[in-house]
Amino acid sequence: MNPATLAVVGAGPLAAGLVERIAASAPELWPAGRPLRLRLVDPHPPGAGRVWRHDQSPLLRMNSMAEDVTVFTDASSTVEGPVRPGPSLAEWAAAPRDFPPYRPPRDPAVAEELRTLAPTGFATRRAQGAYLEWAFRRAVAALPPHVTVTVHRTTATALTGPADGPQRVHLADGSAPLEADAVVLAQGHLASVPEPGRQRLAAFARRHRLRYVPPEFSAESDLSVLRPGEPVLLRGFGLASADLTVLLTQGRGGRFTRSGEELVYVPSGREPVLHIGSRRGVPYHAKPGYRLRGERPPLPRYFGPRETGALAARVARTGVRLDLRRDVWPLMAKEIGYGYYHELFHAHPERTALSWPDFLAAYDGLGVHGPSLAALVATAVPDPADRLDLAHLDRPLAGRTFSGPGAFRAHLHRYIAADLARRADPGHSADLGAFLALLSVHGQLPGLVERGVLTAESVARQVDGWWQGFFNHVASGPPGFRLRELLALSRAGVVHFLGAGMEVTPDPEAGVFLGSSASVPGHTVAATALVEAYQPRPTVRYTADPLLAALHRDGRLSEELLTDPGPGRAGAGTPAYRTGLVRTAPEDQRLLDPRTGGPHPRRVALGAPTTGRALAAFARPRTDAPAFRRTDAVARQLLRTLRTLTEPADAPRAGLRPRPSPRPSGV
Ligand SMILES: Cc1cc2nc3c(=O)[nH]c(=O)nc-3n(C[C@H](O)[C@H](O)[C@H](O)COP(=O)(O)OP(=O)(O)OC[C@H]3O[C@@H](n4cnc5c(N)ncnc54)[C@H](O)[C@@H]3O)c2cc1C
Repeated sequence: MNPATLAVVGAGPLAAGLVERIAASAPELWPAGRPLRLRLVDPHPPGAGRVWRHDQSPLLRMNSMAEDVTVFTDASSTVEGPVRPGPSLAEWAAAPRDFPPYRPPRDPAVAEELRTLAPTGFATRRAQGAYLEWAFRRAVAALPPHVTVTVHRTTATALTGPADGPQRVHLADGSAPLEADAVVLAQGHLASVPEPGRQRLAAFARRHRLRYVPPEFSAESDLSVLRPGEPVLLRGFGLASADLTVLLTQGRGGRFTRSGEELVYVPSGREPVLHIGSRRGVPYHAKPGYRLRGERPPLPRYFGPRETGALAARVARTGVRLDLRRDVWPLMAKEIGYGYYHELFHAHPERTALSWPDFLAAYDGLGVHGPSLAALVATAVPDPADRLDLAHLDRPLAGRTFSGPGAFRAHLHRYIAADLARRADPGHSADLGAFLALLSVHGQLPGLVERGVLTAESVARQVDGWWQGFFNHVASGPPGFRLRELLALSRAGVVHFLGAGMEVTPDPEAGVFLGSSASVPGHTVAATALVEAYQPRPTVRYTADPLLAALHRDGRLSEELLTDPGPGRAGAGTPAYRTGLVRTAPEDQRLLDPRTGGPHPRRVALGAPTTGRALAAFARPRTDAPAFRRTDAVARQLLRTLRTLTEPADAPRAGLRPRPSPRPSGV
């Protein structure tokens, strides 16, 4: 029997999910008894990988509730391979012994945390890492005996090999390169070297003996360079900002205590003074701390495969590509409104003035802009606080200015307190309906991009830019307790708020960074340190990963370059946008090889840095998560491809091309 080898670079949650899907489909697609060797390469522990490894601060937490995180398919999953249900993080934590292969967590603090983890709790990253390491062990245990796994705890530095021959994965630990019949790159979130703008800021900092922390993994940042008491500009108000704030306050020995109802921060004296600002000037919305009260909205309704198919057909017919905000957003917004009002009318009918069927009949017939929708909502939903206002959700400080930092601070305290109260109050569970619709809408966008429905500018500026930011701001925020802590830190004078439209200007005369914002005209903060408080964008040009950098340098992979067909030759004379993403074939995620212009028959790339534009989040149970469909389809294609590639020479060859998945992989 000819053995086959699959090398997987990266052994984080995505790679573990791939092993699970291979285990599910191997009995059907892999010949019994023929050896298949899976060789995973990652310096970090398999399953948890870099993001969820135990070796990080216990202060860092998930931003998803334990019951909302799963790595297993369930009855809702429309995967081609077998569904193999398994526990969510919450279910596993409640009874880990029920789920073999059981092994107690090495760290007693993690064991204790898991024992008391509430389904609506937000686990530490370490506890999630324990779940992922167990899930990996379970996937390995589920493999047939002739499919084996070896983990290489090192970094892959290069990938070589011809299109029609074995691939070689070179390893940083100096051991012999791995030889494989096919390779999957599942490298996830990658570090990057500073882009030119950042290099200038870093050089300015060096010249003036200031501190500059570029965008990087907060868990790995060297924050020791920031001095106690020094004024620091923190640019970004999302999850990295929340992590950095925790590490620079509680991580420096500060602690929270209570004074009556109020949370009080007791500084250690070793904290720097943080001035936080961003484009929006407000923190991401807190995660809702409740469940749906009504039945789940049946999504999609206005923006699903039927509608995206119609948009694609329109573009094919007219040859005119669409603008997301102008042509597609109305459908997206209508869907989000549907998720919201579905929950409001079902869970809180006493706050509505129409029956749901009457509201829905009218809503079905309306566009989302214009007076008719506003009039319908005003009639049907008497309290303005119960009406969905997407523009305000997106930019709550738009058009507002404040007389000074004190007035702005007071406003932001009220804003955060109101957000916290709303997100903790099941009376506002309609927000969760909108959240589910946001997820559904998000899942449709990669398909639109892949089918060339949107203009290049719209993909670059609106899908990857505006929409991603809006989605994160509304749907990807921190647990509520982080915002309560933020208020306490502000009251303690450790955190200050800069405002929206934050600008940072190096001042060479004074030798400081100046921070200002549109919210408080004329107010400037002089700081001796600047921290870029956001994840590095996945940009293959600036990746710090040796393997991707080498493939890019050698012209063996290409960065996505968006252009629109111009007059005459496609792309001529029209602006081009580089997205930084690695190009993969939309139908099966194979790496596109610029030298041949086609997909590489033996290389697949999945996850964050690729044009698959997958949602960078764990699947929620019972949502037919698109991530499972994609991983399942790739696992099945790999089994078929490997089988064909390693067939004995005298067997009839089915050709090198794997069969495309019957289901579009982008949706
Ligand atoms: C800080 C952070 C917090 C997050 N929090 C949440 C959350 O609370 N909830 C949620 O739903 N999602 C969250 N996410 C989203 C995240 O995308 C997923 O949770 C998940 O980690 C993605 O899995 P992955 O395997 O694709 O990528 P990763 O988790 O990044 O794993 C990729 C692995 O590849 C390895 N690797 C990369 N290059 C090489 C190489 N050359 N050689 C060998 N190994 C290599 C890395 O070491 C890493 O272990 C978070 C993401 C980040 C970055």
